[in-house]
Amino acid sequence: MNKNITKILFSGIVFILVLGMFAIVANFEHTLSIERHKQDAKDALLMTQTNLESIITSRMISMASIAAYVEIDNEISQLEYSSFAKNIYASSDEVVKSMTFITDTTITHIYPYEENKSAIGIDLATEPSQRELILYAKNNLKAVFTAPVNLVEGGIGIIVRIPVVVNNAYYGQVAIIFDYDKTIAASGIEELSDEYIVELAGFDSLSGEKTTIWNSGGDLGRDSITQEVDLYGSTLTLTVMPREGWLGITVLNYMIWFIGLIVSLLAFMGMYKVISFNEDLKVANEELENTIDRLQQSEAYITYMAEHDALTEIYNRRKFVNVLETQLSSGKTGSVLLLDIDNFKNINDTLGHVYGDKVLISISKGLIDAVDDNVYVFRFGGDEFIVLLMDETDTECVDICVKNIVKHLKLSNEVEQIKNHITASIGISRFPINGNTVEELLLKADIAMYSAKKSGKNKREFFFEDLISNFENRVNIEKRLRDALELNEFMIYYQPIIDSMTGEISSFEALIRLKDLSMPPMVFIPIAEENGMIVPIGKWVIKEVLDQLQKWEASGFEIKPVAINLSPRQIYDATIVDFIKEELASRKIEPSMIEIEITESVLIDNKEENMKVLALLKKLGLIISLDDFGTGYSSLNYLTYMPVDKIKLDKTLKDRFIDMEDTKMIDGLISIAHGLNLEVVIEGVEEPSEFEKLIVTNCDYMQGYCFGRPSPADQIHDSHGRFVYRSTSKWVKDSIISDKSGESTKHE
Ligand code: C2E
Ligand code: CA
Ligand code: CA
Repeated sequence: MNKNITKILFSGIVFILVLGMFAIVANFEHTLSIERHKQDAKDALLMTQTNLESIITSRMISMASIAAYVEIDNEISQLEYSSFAKNIYASSDEVVKSMTFITDTTITHIYPYEENKSAIGIDLATEPSQRELILYAKNNLKAVFTAPVNLVEGGIGIIVRIPVVVNNAYYGQVAIIFDYDKTIAASGIEELSDEYIVELAGFDSLSGEKTTIWNSGGDLGRDSITQEVDLYGSTLTLTVMPREGWLGITVLNYMIWFIGLIVSLLAFMGMYKVISFNEDLKVANEELENTIDRLQQSEAYITYMAEHDALTEIYNRRKFVNVLETQLSSGKTGSVLLLDIDNFKNINDTLGHVYGDKVLISISKGLIDAVDDNVYVFRFGGDEFIVLLMDETDTECVDICVKNIVKHLKLSNEVEQIKNHITASIGISRFPINGNTVEELLLKADIAMYSAKKSGKNKREFFFEDLISNFENRVNIEKRLRDALELNEFMIYYQPIIDSMTGEISSFEALIRLKDLSMPPMVFIPIAEENGMIVPIGKWVIKEVLDQLQKWEASGFEIKPVAINLSPRQIYDATIVDFIKEELASRKIEPSMIEIEITESVLIDNKEENMKVLALLKKLGLIISLDDFGTGYSSLNYLTYMPVDKIKLDKTLKDRFIDMEDTKMIDGLISIAHGLNLEVVIEGVEEPSEFEKLIVTNCDYMQGYCFGRPSPADQIHDSHGRFVYRSTSKWVKDSIISDKSGESTKHE
């Protein structure tokens, strides 16, 4: 809000500055335009002035030249006078009414004679109305101008008296009487008054006061302009003022203002945008920084999570594999102690999981206390722990460590004032005596641990070769797998994956099973991967899934894309691309009906080749998902170059997020994935309560027992060919609708 005011203020200043510039230009134009108008008025005045001067002054001059006659011949006859005056009169357009010659102060000649002859002999010095003017002209030897004058013979006149000087002495005067109306008409002053307020004024010779000769009416104001009319010794003033005032505001002026306003507005908006853009840029930058921050935090967090157990915060299984592999590869010796807490199930069953978790935390603290600083302790999962002794294979030394462990397990038995009886069965394998691979050492520690359990628990057992015959070993498993492939004893279970927007099934994941369910895939897949049998098994899975899709389609059943898990070994075999292509083509199945799930282990060996094959599969039109995200090294970094469309967040990652009571972390991870154009599946959603927490995140899909367990192909449709919704399905839909209504941009 405050920011907006500043933006408007700042842009407003720019607006005013720009408009101000235009105002200066407009003002300049205004002054110019007034000047132009005044010049026009002056021109018009000049015309009128010239007219008046030629009407009056020229006649005055002509009449004044009569003095020359008198100088030559003292007596001038009426006849001579008439012929002289006639010339002037004739050219006067009836402007001149009469011309009188006065000797000293008495009328002696007049023209036109006949109608005015009665005036001859009158001494004007005795006429009250004339006396003063006659004497003024006589005494001052100055022309006298009077107007307007009510004439004795009727009408209004303008009278001009000009003294006649002979031999430098006053002789008499001539008086010209102009017809007022005709003189005014001939001057053009009336036309001038169309546009202007006009005043023609003179000065009373006797009083010296200004007298108005003619005016157009109206107030001249202070801004009027004046032109002098020179009348042979006396002066008139002609003053005008435009009726509309001096016109400063012209069309050009309006245009300047108009353009100015537009430019200022544009400047305002431009400025506003520039400021906003800068602000947006700042915000975007901050966001980017935040994202990078979050990314780094997530990276660090994921790395931490990848190595640590969420519950007990001690190292996890993956870290164990890392540490042991490093130890083995540098040819060192050591011992693997696999601990399984005895009867831990009882604690969980009688006191509950929450309490059971607290016991596990207490146990891990006890284990850490039991060992030296250079000894690693790992939580292996559930109630299993591993203690890794470096450079130590001597049974007696190992037993000292075991004793310490047993002692500290006892010490850590009290949780919330309840004393538990905590013991462990410990299986021990040593390297390199018992093996030089992680799998082998784990398997042998496991076998030893089972042996310890069998013989009464709370025991430790070192592995020795005889133990192995008691267990179904690897060789047996391999044989079982070969038989199953030959005798068609594998089958596929399908587990629904739910679109978290709609709550409907969006696809299925194909999960392999042995028909008799005697061994879970978690057990036999790693072995098949190791000995290469995963390649033929994998091909069988692909064919089986495609056959099934074809069958469903032929029966008119609803179908959705099916995700198939591919091991790195299958990807590394480049013929897989053509294989899939041909199997799809021969059944006329669209590539988009198949998704491929891979794990980040495709990056461990032959990274480049594997990426190429994945890119080819993607190009073929298959969707690629990165499975088990969050369990391995899980660097966000490789998401930027792996050709994948989706990531599947592993159940363990989800569990940690759920434990955090806060979905911010998971949302951060999801938005990073979305930023990389990847869709996100959350795996292993088991409980409705988990679903409720997760549905508020931005994840695109969810998978887990909550929505449907993996089931045989003939159990996922009803008799009408519709997908069977488990009891949760309806509930899922209801809560999605109430939770997510109004949100519709998720998959974009
Ligand atoms: P995966 O790819 O991570 O498959 C998901 C596993 O999680 C499946 O275990 C599935 O049954 C299980 N699961 C699904 N929902 C839940 C849940 O809500 N809670 C829990 N706790 N588990 C859930 P499954 O079927 O035992 O498969 C185990 C692993 O074996 C798979 O893990 C996959 O890595 C591998 N696998 C399965 N079938 C194939 C296959 O055809 N080819 C290959 N290469 N590997 C396969
Ligand atoms: Ca999978
Ligand atoms: Ca998975």
